[in-house]
Order: sequence, then C-alpha cells, then structure tokens
Amino acid sequence: MLTEKQRWLLAGVGGWMVADCLTDPDAGIPRLMASSFGSSNGRLTDDYPEWLESGVSCGRGRIVSPWFWRDESSSDHPHAMIRKAELRRYALSLTTETRDQLREAHRANTREAVYWSTSCQCPRGIEWHAAQTSPLYRDMWHPTEQQVTDHYARARQVQDNLQQLVLEACGFQPVSVGQLSLF
Ligand SMILES: [Zn+2]
Repeated sequence: MLTEKQRWLLAGVGGWMVADCLTDPDAGIPRLMASSFGSSNGRLTDDYPEWLESGVSCGRGRIVSPWFWRDESSSDHPHAMIRKAELRRYALSLTTETRDQLREAHRANTREAVYWSTSCQCPRGIEWHAAQTSPLYRDMWHPTEQQVTDHYARARQVQDNLQQLVLEACGFQPVSVGQLSLF
C-alpha cells in the first residue's frame, strides 16, 4: 500500500481530481495523467508537511513532489512519488462507504461549478444576452451581489468538504481545511 509520504502527496494534489481517481480509477487516473496538473505549492495549510511546499506534478504515469522533479535517473530523490498502478490499487482498497462519500462530494463540487459556469458579470444588460442567437451568450445570467457572495461561500464549503474527505481517504484525521477562514 501507499506509505504515509505517498498519502500526503495525494492529499497535496487533492480536490476533485483526486476524488475522481479514487472513485473511478479506470477513468480518473488517465484523466489526471493527461491533465499534466501541477502546483508549485501542495501544502494547503500548516497541517500538511513542509516538503509539500516544493509542489506537486502529475503526468508521465506518476505523481511526484517536488513539481520540477522529472528525471527518473537523477541522483536526487523526490520527496515522494506514486505510480499510477499504485494509485489504482489504493483506490480499489478503499471501502465502498468512503468512495460513495467522495463521489457525492465530487458531484456537489461539479454541480456548483456547472451552475456558475453560465453566470456572467459583463457590463451589458441581460437584455443583450436574450437578443443573442448563440446559446453560449443567450443562456447566460447575471448574478446579484448577494448571489456572488453566496456562491463564493458555497463553493468554498463544497471544496473544503471534498478536501476533508480526500484527507480521510488518504488515512488522515480531519485537519483544518476550512478553519483558517474562521480566524
Ligand atoms: Zn453578461
């Protein structure tokens, strides 16, 4: 199975992409690899290990930290690395309950993103949109300030909940995913 460092690496990638890998490994892992996702800092809060500050990188059949580590024959060792076959085995080892919870949180995150993807904050009136022939512009809606505020709060909550479940799926106790915003 994955070592503690490998599980922190997975948590450092985090979010819906890891949820995707863990709930639907046959599709999610190839998607993650094809995305070439990377981040220059995988330490999402102080609860994550310091070495994640050197970032994460996905692609070429593995997830690795630091993000710039790319040469398998390099004399330097990466902080942690997970090969896609290891990730798949780990995903299949999770309980059905864990995967179901992750899947639901992943869906909630997607719903929020899809809903908001048709919002528009351009200075033109909503009448302008209605007059367009392309659904790309015609079907957009203009949120009120309150809706924008609510959306950010909701998106944050959904993402925090998702990341909390990712951490749990990685074998870690709840950490302060969303607590920082409270202080
Ligand atoms: Zn608009």
